Amino acid sequence: MSEQYTEFIELARELADISHAEALLSWDQETYMPARGVTQRARALGVLAGVHHEKLTAPRLVGLVVELSDRGCEGEEAVNLRELKRVQDRALKIPKELVVELTETQSLAHEAWIEARSRSEFPLFAPWLVKVLDLQRQVAHRVGFEGTIYNAFLEVYEPYARTEELVPVLDELRRRLVPLVERILATGKRPATGILDRSYARSQQEAFGRRVMADMGFDSEAGRLDVSVHPFCSSLSREDVRLTTRYDEDKLTGSIFGTIHECGHGLYEQGLPEDAEGTPAGHSISLGIHESQSRLWENMVGRSREFWEHYLPVLREHYPDQLNGVDVDRFYAAVNQVEASPIRVEADEVTYNLHILLRFELEREMLEERVGVGDLPELWMDRMEAYLGIRPENDAVGVLQDVHWSLGLIGYFPTYSLGNLYAAQFFSRAQVEMPDLMDQVGQGQLLGLRQWLRKKIHRRGKRLTAQELVEEVTGEPLRVDFLMEYLEGKFGELYDL
Ligand code: ZN
Repeated sequence: MSEQYTEFIELARELADISHAEALLSWDQETYMPARGVTQRARALGVLAGVHHEKLTAPRLVGLVVELSDRGCEGEEAVNLRELKRVQDRALKIPKELVVELTETQSLAHEAWIEARSRSEFPLFAPWLVKVLDLQRQVAHRVGFEGTIYNAFLEVYEPYARTEELVPVLDELRRRLVPLVERILATGKRPATGILDRSYARSQQEAFGRRVMADMGFDSEAGRLDVSVHPFCSSLSREDVRLTTRYDEDKLTGSIFGTIHECGHGLYEQGLPEDAEGTPAGHSISLGIHESQSRLWENMVGRSREFWEHYLPVLREHYPDQLNGVDVDRFYAAVNQVEASPIRVEADEVTYNLHILLRFELEREMLEERVGVGDLPELWMDRMEAYLGIRPENDAVGVLQDVHWSLGLIGYFPTYSLGNLYAAQFFSRAQVEMPDLMDQVGQGQLLGLRQWLRKKIHRRGKRLTAQELVEEVTGEPLRVDFLMEYLEGKFGELYDL
């Protein structure tokens, strides 16, 4: 190992240490910070972000990246160099004034969005969205891109993915999902979901959630579970992984599936390679791969019949009255109800991706200036009608429902659908390699799956790109068939198609 590389890694680790502090402050802000702490916290986070940026773009680190690139690296060294250089290049290309203007504009746009959504008045938000898009376009032209401008945003969340390759995959997904949703809804079958809306004491929801987390193999000595308004997983290091969930006593499933989902993210973080801790190679690959880990556990395991064959009796011990006489068939049907709802975050496994595809299409069309901001509300309604057969009754539950665009999070949405596609492909492979996998799940034995994921995915860190990982694990590139076959099989049976 050269002297330059040793120094390079030392500086990379310092960046990870600053991120560690930033993550802790952000986690605390969402969980325990008193409301009035917000102003000083914003300041502290702003200063830390500045320090991070300075160190990332410091002449010494830039020089080391150039020297090492000229000399050429191999193996793990090449991965670390490639990944740090990727982030550093972007940071160097965006001038500080533009970063400041974006941060300020997005903060004001966010406030305008809150107001617009509460009054369901899109025109209050529209001029801010125009500004955000304009600044984001400036960012794209600074950092440069090949093909569509959307690539400049997609690569932030899904490195090395290309819009031109993603579009045909997601188009195919839409073409196959729309008729499936139509067939399901046409049956008119409505599972009795009332059993999920009885009164479920919070303490017992928590006890059950913690039990499932332990069975999934989440290491509570290297992580914790708390409560926040929006559940998330934040990793300070692989030995300090913070999960949150939320409890609603009138809605049993929110906390259960929320906890399993975040725990899936958490297992990925805890399983990252120990020997690469603090270096770029020790990170997760992309948002899409991260989401595949949460979705796989939440949906393919947590919403399976086998899972509830084991866990419904466990849950009934916590709620003997509420679940008295409720059998597995009824419970399984209830947690898999398909519904054409206007709200993305409440969507089931089948309709969820259509919500994402609509957003992906619109944000791409906006950036490519094929669609004007003023046309969004109408286009949103039209496409909801085309994909799900419903027209949202107003913009608050239509185009204004998500926070993402107000925060400039463009290019983020497709990673949710990529996550579902990756999850189905990985899970299909896991079942080939472990033919008794679902029998294990039916006995509450979840560690076999965790070990498989750890070995095949988590331990790889960022040494591969998402595409390379999918090929290595499953032997073929990403295909829509795995998710569609899974959905058609499961919901075909549930809805007698
Ligand atoms: Zn997630």
